[in-house]
Amino acid sequence: MKITVIGAGYVGLVSAACFSDFGYEVTCVDRDPRKLALLESGKIPIYEQGLEPIVAANRAAGRLVFTDRLKDAVAQADVVLIAVGTPTREGEDAADLSFVYAAGEEIAKAMQGFTVIVTKSTVPVGTAAKLREIMSRARPDGDFEVASNPEFMREGSAVEDFLRPDRVVVGVGSERAEKVMSQLYRPLTAKNVPLLVTSCEAAEIIKYAANTFLATRIAFVNQLADLCEKVGADIEDVARGMGLDKRIGLQFLSPGPGFGGSCFPKDTRALVHTARQQGHPFSIVENVIAANEQRKVALADRIQQAVGGTLAGKRIALLGIAFKAETDDIRDAAALTVIPELQRRGASVAAFDPVAMDNGRQSLDAVQWCADAYSAAIGADAAVILTEWNVFRGLDLKRMARDMRQPVLVDFRNLFPIADAKASGMAYHSIGRPSVVPKGGQKADVIPFKSGAV
Ligand code: NAD
Repeated sequence: MKITVIGAGYVGLVSAACFSDFGYEVTCVDRDPRKLALLESGKIPIYEQGLEPIVAANRAAGRLVFTDRLKDAVAQADVVLIAVGTPTREGEDAADLSFVYAAGEEIAKAMQGFTVIVTKSTVPVGTAAKLREIMSRARPDGDFEVASNPEFMREGSAVEDFLRPDRVVVGVGSERAEKVMSQLYRPLTAKNVPLLVTSCEAAEIIKYAANTFLATRIAFVNQLADLCEKVGADIEDVARGMGLDKRIGLQFLSPGPGFGGSCFPKDTRALVHTARQQGHPFSIVENVIAANEQRKVALADRIQQAVGGTLAGKRIALLGIAFKAETDDIRDAAALTVIPELQRRGASVAAFDPVAMDNGRQSLDAVQWCADAYSAAIGADAAVILTEWNVFRGLDLKRMARDMRQPVLVDFRNLFPIADAKASGMAYHSIGRPSVVPKGGQKADVIPFKSGAV
C-alpha cells in the first residue's frame, strides 16, 4: 500500500513516520521549504520524543520520503491522508478549513486510479461530505472515496500514542473505503487495537466530543481548586479522592493555568460554532471556554498579588513557555497571555523553557531568554512555573531563593509538596492549596481566580 501524507506537522510527520515503520511506502508532502530542508538534512523540525530514530531508520530504508511535489506524490498513492492545520478562523469561532479544501482540490487534480482521501486533520462535522463535493467538481471523472480518520495522539507522547492507541476511529461512506481503511490499520488491529468504523459524520463528532470533554474536566478541576482555596481544602487530596473512583479516573484532574495548546482552545470553539449553526447552543462548552479565558487573564493578577500588589519595576522569572511539558508547541499557551500582560503592567520578564524558547522568541517581545531556571531567577521578585516540566520538579528552591530579590514562587502546576516549599523558606503560592508564607515574612494573600483585571 502506498501512502501519501499532506502536511509534515505534529500529526502528519508522526503519522508518516509510523506508517512507514509498519512497512508501507510513505511520501510526506509539505510546502514549507524550511521544514523540508530540515527533514532532508536528517533533522526533526519539532520536539517529539522517539520520532527522530523512526524517521532516520525509515528514510534509510527508502520507505519514507519528503517532498513539496504534491502532484507526483498523490499520483502514485492508494491512500492520501490530509494532515494540514485547521486553526480558528480569524475573528470567529469556526475552524478555518481553507487548507483542507485547498489540499483536496490539488489532490483531486493529481490522483490516478482508485484513491481513498482521508481527513486526519480535526474537522467539523460535514467536512468529509463537503470535501467529496469539492473534489468531484474539480475532477468529475475521479475514482475516489473520502474517509474520516481523526487523530487522538498527544504531543509529547505522539509516537507511543500512534503505535499503541486506545482505539482507531474510521468514518466511511462505502464498503470499499472501509476495506482500504481496515487494511491500512491492520498492523494495529492485529495487535488487538479496537477499530471503530462509523459514518464520516460520527467520526468527525467523536474527535470534537473527546477533546471538549477533556477540556471540560480541566475547567471543572480548575474551578474546584478555586473553591478549595476559599474553604481551606487541598485540591490534590480532593482530586485524588475523586479520581480513585473508577467511574471518574485520575487523568485530567490536575489544576493549572487553564488549558492551551493547538487543539483544546480551537476545538472547543469550533464545536460551539457548529452547535450554534445547528440552532442547538452547547452552553456547557461555552461556559468552559469563558472560564478558561478568564483564568488565563487572572494569572497576572495572582502574580501581582504575590509580589506585593504592583508589578511596576518588578522582575519576573517565567519558567515554562510550552503549553504543556514534553513539547515545544506554544500555540495558545498561557505564556502568550501572561507575559505581555506582566509587561503591560510594568514588569520585566526573564524566561526559560527546556525546548520551546526558539518558538518563544518568534512570538514574544522584550523577554530575556535564559540558559536555565536558576539564571532566570537571579534578581527576580518572583519565579513563576507555568509548564510542568520534570526539570522544574527537582529545582533546588533554597539555591534559587538565594539569588532572588524576593524569594517568592508562584507555582501554577503544583509541582512541589507544601512541606518542601515550607522547608525552602520561600513564599509559595500554588493552586487550590494554602499559600506558604515564611515566618517573619510579609503575608502575601493570593487573590482567587476571577474575571476582570486588577
Ligand atoms: P501543524 O501546523 O503542525 O502542521 C500542518 C502542516 O501542514 C504544516 O507543516 C504546513 O506547512 C502543512 N500544509 C498546510 N497546507 C499544505 C498543503 N496544501 N500542502 C502541503 N502542506 C501543507 O499542524 P498539526 O498540529 O500537525 O495539526 C494538524 C491537524 O491535526 C489539525 O487539524 C489539528 O487539530 C489535528 N490534530 C493535532 C494534534 C496535535 O497534537 N498537534 C493532535 C490531534 C489532531
